[in-house]
Amino acid sequence: MIDKIVIANRGEIALRVLRACQELGIKTVAVHSDVDRDLKHVLLADETVCIGPAASSESYLNIPALISAAEITDASAIHPGYGFLSENADFSERVEQSGFIFIGPRAETIRLMGDKVSAIAAMKAAGVPCVPGSDGPLGNDDATNLRLAKEIGYPIIIKASGGGGGRGMREVHSEAHLLNAIALTRSEAKAAFANDMVYMEKFLENPRHIEFQVLADEHGNAIHLGERDYSMQRRHQKVLEEAPAPGITDEMRNRMGKICADACIRIGYRGAGTFEFLFQDGEFYFIEMNTRIQVEHPVTERVTNTDLVVEQIRIAAGEPLSLKQEDVVVQGHAIECRINAEDAKTFMPSPGTITHYHAPGGAGIRMDSHVYSGYRVPPNYDSLIGKLIAYGNTRDSAIARMRTALNEIGIEGIRTNVALQQDIIDDPHFQTGGTNIHYLEKKLGL
Ligand code: ADP
Repeated sequence: MIDKIVIANRGEIALRVLRACQELGIKTVAVHSDVDRDLKHVLLADETVCIGPAASSESYLNIPALISAAEITDASAIHPGYGFLSENADFSERVEQSGFIFIGPRAETIRLMGDKVSAIAAMKAAGVPCVPGSDGPLGNDDATNLRLAKEIGYPIIIKASGGGGGRGMREVHSEAHLLNAIALTRSEAKAAFANDMVYMEKFLENPRHIEFQVLADEHGNAIHLGERDYSMQRRHQKVLEEAPAPGITDEMRNRMGKICADACIRIGYRGAGTFEFLFQDGEFYFIEMNTRIQVEHPVTERVTNTDLVVEQIRIAAGEPLSLKQEDVVVQGHAIECRINAEDAKTFMPSPGTITHYHAPGGAGIRMDSHVYSGYRVPPNYDSLIGKLIAYGNTRDSAIARMRTALNEIGIEGIRTNVALQQDIIDDPHFQTGGTNIHYLEKKLGL
């Protein structure tokens, strides 16, 4: 039984979790830093606890403060949202050891997937296609490493097993640079992640990014909810996502989705998760699994008519999945534009007070945002201030509705990236669909 949930996050995702709790009749505890007292979900929660100063390290990443908040409010579970502690195995372990339910996978699963070498090994064993590579960590023998790279074929990429957030990777285009690149990546990885394990993969030059959403319960059931395309990005930051991915056939979706769902059963996965793939020349290559809810989950919710956060909470409460694979039908098309408090051209963050806010509406439009007129965006956190989701029966209709909604949105007092999103929506190559991960940076001349 879950009757009260601590929402260990902030911003739009905290509000999203609060709404799901209210729908399920579950009481909510909003924890917040001392600059976040005016967050919308803090104003709406049943109880609130200030857990520390603005710095995330002392508030949203402060494990003892979060556990204390659950203790003093007599909560039964903690929802980590995304970012912050959502993929921290120690946090999940501490939550469960303290007698609370962690709304997410078991600590050992988070640990397994958090280390890239072990994650890839587990996925290979489960039959998930991976990028051709070294099949485990690189040793110190130069001759072996040179031979391995030759077999895989240049270009290759050296990656740190403990890396994350796009850090700890180095491309190598010719043999002359290989050994130096391995040594450099190793020493950087040791300094940054306290883990000098590195491995080698074929470097795919023009891939798309396609990810599969899964749900798995404690009773050995796992399903997939189709895929999302998140290729439109800048500096590894996703800008716009859509579901389904242009050009992916039902046959490909069903085949790859089943591979992901079967892998969940094999690794004893629990909760919502995402399998990220590079997609090139018709082939999928696993790169990592995210063991949490994703920012872009609404596009999947829209095309499958599901509520992933409600499912997460039900699974954590020990209930079986409310859906079977045959109940999941991908219908229509959904696009999400991330709305950030940043300049549309320079990408400089633009915190400050929103003097006027008007959310767009109309058929097929969903706006997930915690901001309101008079809300002050603090400079301390991520610049995401909302997610605009447009749905249509066809991709063209979703694009047309998104264009209207972006025109309608009103955010004054700070700068936003709305003009960038309008530019993408009107881009002929985006409209055709299927652009690769380098497209946006090339378009922006970066
Ligand atoms: P992180 O955990 O740091 O996000 P990933 O393994 O997901 O690391 O890789 C981050 C990004 O680096 C990918 O999204 C992709 O753009 C690029 N990348 C990673 N591996 C490869 C590869 N083998 N070939 C081409 N690009 C890659």
